Amino acid sequence: MNEAIFRLGIFLILFALLGLAETFRPRRPLRDDKARRWRTNLGLFLLDILAQRLVLGAILVSAALHAGEMGWGLFNLTALPFWLEGAAAFVILDGAIYLQHVATHKVPPLWRLHRVHHADLDVDLTTGLRFHPVEILLSALYKAGIVLLIGADPLIVLIYEASLSAFALFTHGNIAVPEGWDRALRRLVCTPDMHRRHHSTRKDETDSNYGNIFSFWDRLARAYFENPALGQQGVILGLADERKGARLGLTHLLLMPFR
Ligand SMILES: [Zn+2]
Repeated sequence: MNEAIFRLGIFLILFALLGLAETFRPRRPLRDDKARRWRTNLGLFLLDILAQRLVLGAILVSAALHAGEMGWGLFNLTALPFWLEGAAAFVILDGAIYLQHVATHKVPPLWRLHRVHHADLDVDLTTGLRFHPVEILLSALYKAGIVLLIGADPLIVLIYEASLSAFALFTHGNIAVPEGWDRALRRLVCTPDMHRRHHSTRKDETDSNYGNIFSFWDRLARAYFENPALGQQGVILGLADERKGARLGLTHLLLMPFR
């Protein structure tokens, strides 16, 4: 329960702050109907929360607690200082999520689900909440598997999950981050200008900048690119074959992977 309140609190504060940033420092004019997009994206988010709560409960922290009790996983077999173990678990979790994101693009049935996230014709902070519930469930199971495997501390799992949600909001934000800040941040983490290229309709651009929190995974995978070919203002966002906003309502998106 405390975990849920902690996450909800952080989420609401960040959503409000980034929402203000999008309102007062927008990076690009929105092209599609914002009210409709927000209804759709927040509708999907509510379904995702329900799916996670009803089907899986607090599966990740439970997995971490269970691994600790049973002495399972890498970090339950080693005796490293807590800060070092925590930092290592955080980086490993982010690497695992990076691989998962690449897999959602390369494995056709997973791409069918992940397309729902990419079909958004604008990218703003609600895009970071827009995932098909089946993708959210698969992702939760995958993450629980990783947590059991590495035996991460429950507190680290909680901190990683909160950071991942925060970065999902931030990197999808339609926020004009000052150029100097953007450059400094990108040395370590992903920024909105970096991630926007990943939402381009061009396949070669979608196959880049997969990062969630740390930017070094893309550099290591040689998938890091600074900007879209048409620039931050000119890049066309969404899927090349799903261009009609009116057809991208909630019901349509829920059925999209199965058509
Ligand atoms: Zn993607």
